[in-house]
Amino acid sequence: MFMHNKNLMYTVRVSEPDPKLASLMLEQFGGPQGELAAALRYFTQGLSDDDPARKDMLIDIATEELSHLEIIGSIVAMLTKGVKGKLAEGSEEVTELYANIAQGNGSHTLAVLYGGGPALTNSAGQLWTAGYIDSIGEPTADLRSNIAAESRAKIIYERLINLTPDPGVKDALTFLMTREVAHQKMFEKALYSIENNFPPGKLPGDPNYTDKYYNMSQGAGDARGPWNQGAQWEFVDIKPDQAPVNGGEGNPTVRLAAEELKAVNEAAKRTKSRTDVNPVTGADLGAGPGAGKTTPVK
Ligand code: MN
Ligand code: MN
Repeated sequence: MFMHNKNLMYTVRVSEPDPKLASLMLEQFGGPQGELAAALRYFTQGLSDDDPARKDMLIDIATEELSHLEIIGSIVAMLTKGVKGKLAEGSEEVTELYANIAQGNGSHTLAVLYGGGPALTNSAGQLWTAGYIDSIGEPTADLRSNIAAESRAKIIYERLINLTPDPGVKDALTFLMTREVAHQKMFEKALYSIENNFPPGKLPGDPNYTDKYYNMSQGAGDARGPWNQGAQWEFVDIKPDQAPVNGGEGNPTVRLAAEELKAVNEAAKRTKSRTDVNPVTGADLGAGPGAGKTTPVK
């Protein structure tokens, strides 16, 4: 079950309302790297994890992310507080109100549509979507994705901190950013607590291909580095060696039943291009100034 404590996880002291800043903050409320996405990502992973220790960690972090969502949402609410009241009550002249909510960002849209409260959108008004969550139900893959997700969240916070003039908001964002650093370390530990976590999943890679580096982009600028040199790597850059690595002609094939083959051939015949004609088209019939060259209509 979920319980709620009325205290925020971190005390937020916003200096003054700033709707423009509020719309930037929405990036971490309803954006792809935001707190709602993070909370639901770890919550759903935790629900199905059969490892009790890892399940506990996932639900702990999911719940902390909800607490972050509460913090960032409260920041948005504080930054739009004055405008929200004026908008609701129509207590300003039209021009003043317009200037107040617009402030040169997307905030006028967010204010009109959402009444100045925290909206489940990113900073550009894109609606939140579950498509932000890429869990696949295999901890050796999901933990790696979680590590990357925490890195991205950290970077977005870093950018928001650089854009924020308000010292109180900056302070809260620094706390949130730092927690993503801590989460990244937790997920790293959890990943390496699984022995044999690479390659992800159960099936081993085919040893014929696990250690080969194919120099597929050949010419000036070819470079060598730890990713393609040393004892670990076999560097393959001779053209004949880059014929299909498993032999064969390199053409895709599939065996079709006679009936399927007949249908495929019929469709190909029906949609075949004639290269010996120059048909008049609708573009030719309707062509006016600026149409460029067209085929004369007889
Ligand atoms: Mn967070
Ligand atoms: Mn996090």
